[in-house]
Formats: sequence, structure tokens, C-alpha cells
Amino acid sequence: AKSRGRGNFQFFSNDMNAATHERLLLESRLWQALEQQEFELYLQPQVDLPSGALIGAEALVRWHHPELGTVGPDRFIPIAEESGLILPLGEWALRRAVALLERWRGIGLGHLRLAVNLSARQCHGDALLGQLDELLATSGIDPALLELEITETAAMQDPELSRALLQQLRARGIRVAIDDFGTGYSSLSYLKLFELDRIKIDRGFVKDIETDPDDAVIVGATIGLAHSLGLGVIAEGVETAAQAEFLRGKLCDEAQGYLFARPMCVDEFERTASAALGG
Ligand code: C2E
Ligand code: CA
Ligand code: CA
Ligand code: CA
Repeated sequence: AKSRGRGNFQFFSNDMNAATHERLLLESRLWQALEQQEFELYLQPQVDLPSGALIGAEALVRWHHPELGTVGPDRFIPIAEESGLILPLGEWALRRAVALLERWRGIGLGHLRLAVNLSARQCHGDALLGQLDELLATSGIDPALLELEITETAAMQDPELSRALLQQLRARGIRVAIDDFGTGYSSLSYLKLFELDRIKIDRGFVKDIETDPDDAVIVGATIGLAHSLGLGVIAEGVETAAQAEFLRGKLCDEAQGYLFARPMCVDEFERTASAALGG
């Protein structure tokens, strides 16, 4: 048992070294990466559920790391959060998103919305509203085409501050969505507190709606509750036709997921969107 214990420790330790090594590799380049333009926004289509029509996209950041290749946000957003880089990265994402909306106006895609993720630090810092005011003043975009996604967990870190921020965003005509809905601890109480446009049902609930009766009930009730409060509902992580059918039956408004499309580069998204218009 002793030797196995040591073996396990050895294995664990190697594992740790690999993880630590990757983390160091990511961390050491993270600040440079923004300057070197190694980040890219990918876009994942969002569709109207009844009709299947494309109505917009969520912007999801990717990092083209020179040694590691393309790195997904789950691997570097937590590091960016800790180190503070999330603030300039988040600002970059907003700028890029507004530039895309402006571009779309000129190429016949001016009807499409774009959703951008906000980190907790952005929500609780004091720079966000100034950045948005500048972007709205210097671009010609309709603020209602920009949606900001705030996770339930981030919003609930400081409910009073979040309430004030969401109110300010909505006063500017910017749309607000609560992301990963249902994964926090106080899903229902704040729906009344916050000014919102819609909620985004977390993938974790959608995944099991066909097999887990509890999840099916929760999703159905959530949609009903949201609608009765005048909120829209989008479901994320829709992978199967059966899931889409279930959600359609519960009158979920919109959906996003691999069933419809994976996140893709901007070029591909624009080609897809233009083709959908028959152009
Ligand atoms: P999220 O906001 O919940 O984004 C949805 C994630 O689910 C994306 O992962 C997307 O690729 C993935 N996804 C979409 N459809 C499906 C599906 O049908 N099945 C499955 N299994 N997954 C699906 P991604 O791109 O790896 O992003 C992960 C997380 O990183 C995001 O989760 C978001 O929290 C964060 N993130 C991404 N971009 C940004 C950003 O610009 N700023 C901030 N603060 N966070 C970001
Ligand atoms: Ca999101
Ligand atoms: Ca989400
Ligand atoms: Ca999620």
C-alpha cells in the first residue's frame, strides 16, 4: 500500500506539474497577447425557436497562443480574472463587438444582435459605463443590438451594485441578459430586483431535459416564470432536435447550441448570415 501510495503521489505530482506548466505558459504571455493581437472573437449563432431564423450571435473569445495553438476561454479567463487582464480584455471585446455591429449595418446584416460576456470585475469596476458611452457616441450603432451577458453568480456578488449597473445599461438602451441562469443560489428573488431583458437558461439544465424529469420541470417552470415577468428566454447548449422540440413546446423564445451551429470565426458567420438572407 505504501508503494502504491507513493506511486499515486508521483502520478499526481506529474499531473500537477503539467497543469502548473500550462498555467505558467498561459500566464506569462497573457499580457503580451492583447498587444500582439492574439485574441479573436468567435461568434455563435442564436436563433428564433419558432421559425429557426438567425437573430444574432454571442461573442466568445479565443486565444491563438503561439506555442499552444488555439486556447479556449475556460483555460485563460480565470487567469485573466485573477491577474486583472480581464479588464483590458473585456474592453477590447466590447470595442470589437461594436465595430462588428457597425460593419454589419453596411453589409446588409444590420438586423443582427451581438451578445458580449461581462466578467464580475467589469461589472463591479467603474470604467464600464464610460467605455460604453464613448463607444455609443463614436459609433452609429443601435444600442438595442448590443446585449451584455452577466452571470447570475457575478450579479449576486453585490446585488445593489449590480442593480444600479443594470439600470444604467438599460437607460442607455443596451440589452441585459442573465447568463447561466439557474446555477446560482438565489435565482428567483433577484428577477424582481434587476432590470433585465432576458435570461439565458444554463446548458446544464438543457443537457438533461429529455432524461431528467426534474430538469424538464425546472426548465418549463423557468420559461413560464420569465414570461410572466415580461422577460425573454434563450436556452444555451441545445445539441439535439429533441431538446429544441421540448423547448419550442414550452414556448422558449430563442436558442443557441451545436444543433444550430458551433462558434465560428467572423468571416464564416457573415457568410452564413448573408446566405440565410438568400444573398
Ligand atoms: P458561456 O458564456 O456559458 O458560453 C457558452 C459556452 O458554451 C461557450 O464555450 C460555447 O462554445 C459553449 N457551447 C455553445 N453551444 C454548446 C453546445 O451545444 N454544447 C456544449 N457542450 N457547449 C456549447 P466557450 O466559448 O469555451 O466559452 C466558455 C466560457 O468562457 C463562456 O461560457 C464565458 O463564461 C467565458 N467567456 C467567453 N468569452 C468571454 C469574454 O469575452 N469575456 C468573458 N468575461 N468571458 C468570456
Ligand atoms: Ca455567455
Ligand atoms: Ca452561459
Ligand atoms: Ca454555461
